[in-house]
Parts: sequence; C-alpha cells; structure tokens
Amino acid sequence: MELTDTTYSIQKSIFSGKAIAHLKLNASKFIGIFPKGFSSEIKSEPNSMEISFDSIPLGSKADYQVGEIENHEGSIPLPEASIVVGAGRGMKDASNWGIIEDLAQSLHAATACSKPVSDINWRPHHEHVGQTGIKIAPKLYIACGISGAIQHLAGVNGSGKIVVINQDPEAPFFKHADYGIVGDLFDVVPRLTKIIKEM
Ligand SMILES: Cc1cc2nc3c(=O)[nH]c(=O)nc-3n(C[C@H](O)[C@H](O)[C@H](O)COP(=O)(O)OP(=O)(O)OC[C@H]3O[C@@H](n4cnc5c(N)ncnc54)[C@H](O)[C@@H]3O)c2cc1C
Repeated sequence: MELTDTTYSIQKSIFSGKAIAHLKLNASKFIGIFPKGFSSEIKSEPNSMEISFDSIPLGSKADYQVGEIENHEGSIPLPEASIVVGAGRGMKDASNWGIIEDLAQSLHAATACSKPVSDINWRPHHEHVGQTGIKIAPKLYIACGISGAIQHLAGVNGSGKIVVINQDPEAPFFKHADYGIVGDLFDVVPRLTKIIKEM
C-alpha cells in the first residue's frame, strides 16, 4: 500500500491469486476487510506509509443495523476453524456424511464441502468452499473425495497443511497436498478417526 499525494495505491490479488490488480483510490479513508481479521504487524515497504487501523466502535445503534442472525449450533464457524475436514462428490450420497462428521468431531474441526455437493443439497451452502464459496485458511485441511479443481483450490490454498484422501492416484489435488492417502475414503476415514480417538 502506497500513498502518493492524495491517492492510495493498493495491490489486490484477483482471479484466484493468478494476477495482481493495481488500484488507485481517491479517498481520504478506507475500510479493509481481511481473512481472520487484521494482522498484528503491518509491514511497511520502503516507499510506503505506516498504516494504523482504528477499530470501529459498535456502540451506537444508529451506525449499523443487524438484518438477520443465523446460528449454526454446535458447529465451528468455517472461517475461524483451525482444522477443517472437507468432502466432495466422492461421498456418493448425503447419508454417508456421518464418517466426515465423526472425523471432524474427533479433531474439533469444522466441516466443509465442494460446490457440487452443496448444489445438490447434500450439504448446506454455508459449507461450500472455493472460488464461489467461503475462503478458508485453517492450519490443517483434510480433503476427502474431492478432485481438486482449480475453483475449489482457490478457496483452500491458504491452508497451512493439506491432507488429501482420494482413491484416484491421478487426482489433481495430490499435486497441492502436503500429505496424500490413496485409498477408498469409506475405509480410510473411519480408520483415521479411530486412531485419533485412541490417541
Ligand atoms: C465458475 C465456476 C465456479 C466454481 N466454484 C467452485 C467452488 O467455489 N468450489 C468448488 O468446490 N467447486 C467449484 N466449481 C466446481 C469445480 O470446477 C469442480 O467441478 C468441483 O470442485 C468438483 O467437486 P468434487 O471434487 O466434489 O467432485 P468430482 O470432481 O466429481 O470429484 C470427486 C472425487 O472423489 C474421488 N472419489 C470417488 N469415490 C471415492 C472414494 N470412495 N474414496 C476416495 N475418493 C473417491 C474421485 O476420484 C474424484 O477425485 C466451480 C465451477 C465453475 C465452472
């Protein structure tokens, strides 16, 4: 971020991180929204100005209005989860999700899904991650029966470590995985959960 006279010059990643847009803002103030909130340390480049962020007081009701509150009881909000277990069309049917929920519960993780899975209502839309869904940045993302399409990766490539479970050794997701398990998820996932529960 750079200040030249009266304009801010801002770099913003676009097209799923494939390009960087250089934007100029003629504004004296702006609000930035970042994944997981503000960094405690804002790095200053040689030609950049030091930026300090003011917190927005939510005290005055005149400043804002709450439209709707949606509670997802018992579940960990996806953007805040440090571990996420995601599953895709490899699950075959909505009724098979118990093994994903068991694994997530054993790790205190949130559950996520690929877009087609939420499109066919196997899972709720708030679990859909990717280019057109929620972008997540957990410490650990475990992807089960997800092929690893570019649009899915766009939402999960901020993860610290990625574990992929897929029966197809050629699945594109393996190229982006830190750890990969080639196998039938209906065999691998329950065994993994059992081991974690015994630890
Ligand atoms: C404009 C646009 C935007 C999109 N946005 C998104 C988005 O935000 N998020 C998103 O996810 N997708 C998005 N998509 C869709 C994306 O292109 C893929 O089609 C989608 O991610 C594939 O979902 P999937 O991996 O669950 O299913 P599939 O591609 O069908 O993959 C299923 C995988 O499961 C594996 N599998 C099957 N059975 C088993 C088993 N028993 N054990 C282990 N593995 C098994 C298969 O080998 C396969 O790799 C978008 C597409 C477009 C065109």
